[in-house]
Amino acid sequence: MATLIDDAAAEQALTSSLMDVFEAQRRAYMDECPVSLDIRRDRLDRAINILMTHGDDLCDAMAADFLSRPRLMSMFSDIAPAVKALRYAKKHVARWMRPERRALEFPLGLLGARGEIRYHPKGVVGLISPWNFPVNLTFGPLAGILAAGNRAMIKPSEMTPETSCLMESLIGRYFDSKELCVVTGGVDVGRAFSSIPFDHMLFTGATSVGRHIMRAASETLTPVTLELGGKSPVLLSRTADIGQAAERIMIGKMMNAGQICLAPDYCLVPSEHMQEVHDELVAAAERLYPTVKDNADYTAIVNAHHKTRLYDHIVDARNKGALITDVNPANEAFSREDTDTVMPLHIIQRTTNDMTIMQEEVFGPLLPLVPYDSIDDAITYVNERERPLALYYFGKDRNEERLVLDKTLSGGVTVNDVVWHVGHESLPFGGVGASGMGAYHGHEGFLTFSHARAVYRQTGFNLAKMIGLLPPYGKKLKQTLRMQIGK
Ligand code: NAD
Repeated sequence: MATLIDDAAAEQALTSSLMDVFEAQRRAYMDECPVSLDIRRDRLDRAINILMTHGDDLCDAMAADFLSRPRLMSMFSDIAPAVKALRYAKKHVARWMRPERRALEFPLGLLGARGEIRYHPKGVVGLISPWNFPVNLTFGPLAGILAAGNRAMIKPSEMTPETSCLMESLIGRYFDSKELCVVTGGVDVGRAFSSIPFDHMLFTGATSVGRHIMRAASETLTPVTLELGGKSPVLLSRTADIGQAAERIMIGKMMNAGQICLAPDYCLVPSEHMQEVHDELVAAAERLYPTVKDNADYTAIVNAHHKTRLYDHIVDARNKGALITDVNPANEAFSREDTDTVMPLHIIQRTTNDMTIMQEEVFGPLLPLVPYDSIDDAITYVNERERPLALYYFGKDRNEERLVLDKTLSGGVTVNDVVWHVGHESLPFGGVGASGMGAYHGHEGFLTFSHARAVYRQTGFNLAKMIGLLPPYGKKLKQTLRMQIGK
């Protein structure tokens, strides 16, 4: 009982300290409005400066958190995309901010009335980020958040504590806590954080946690953007260049050891090509990573919990009849019990729907191959499952490609490769259905974190009189209605 009371008191104290920060940011935002172009650019610049000046330190922190994570890959996957996003926003923000004139219905425009959209900062944004790309998924969204003139509170992941602490101290040095601040902690902090009445909340993480976030946000009617996960399929056409596809799939799958929201989760393969595809995938993986254990270019599984989760999938699949190839070209010793969390690629065939690996997002170096007979069967297989974050089609048949894109729905698509649609600020990034809602990146990020406020300026004419809206209603109003809808 005492513990329950202590827990409740601690949670209340936590929420109230978060509320203090939120209210201070809110007041500062209100005082500052309108948020000038110079201020927005200055904040974007400071975020860029953090990454350009301390990128190496952040990569060291990520290496420490993962125990093994290639520094160049961290530069490519975390620092560079965030810098690019922030620079893109800085370049375009002046244009994005401009009020937009809208045509009005006849004859109001002619009579001098005016309509426009003014993009207003929403206020204080709550940003919750995951561990797999801890810097990218914290600083990347700041591009849209800061360009739109907002302030933000950030809750990074407890699974990457070194990186989260470093981001907290760097952001504390470059920003006033009333502009931008980081709150570190675990699920309890996340829970308290998501109860704050933010003006918008961006959550990146698991679909299951996304449901909690949306439930919490419903109490405060906080609008949410949910960037979630899911099982992103690869559909290999009979017209695909299998060797090329296998290498591209493996590059995307094995980067960060498959711990990517957009990683190919499973491959749909024409049944007669199963063996060839399997062999090409193995060959590509062996070429890319001739050794696994002490390979400085390979990333470890983030912690023992996730490694066990992945081995559990393997055991479950094997017990249910799967055929599993572990791609271990140098014959190194790996085991579930080993404290080392590096794990080789496993290709899994003869899968069935009751296997956990076919039900949950893999998020690691396991790749199930699922045979299909006709392209319609493959499409049905995708559509019988929750809508994925991404869909990948490999093939040369443009009609078939069109059919696949027309008949399925996913957050995004890459054709003849995997993952890369995420790398372009000119394209929106987001999920659909169970893989998320809303989008950001580039202009969509600015729009997501702005309120599109309609402003209508009335004409000098006595409009109400002209259209017969002065009681008593009668002939004139009927005439107006006839003009409007023909009735
Ligand atoms: P997670 O959902 O476990 O955690 C994400 C964040 O939410 C962390 O900061 C965590 O502390 C916080 N959190 C956890 N429980 C919470 C709760 N009840 N209330 C409030 N906050 C809570 O996700 P993860 O394990 O860090 O990341 C992996 C997942 O994220 C995968 O499913 C992956 O697909 C997804 N992901 C999606 C994207 C995307 O852009 N769509 C990008 C990266 C990762």
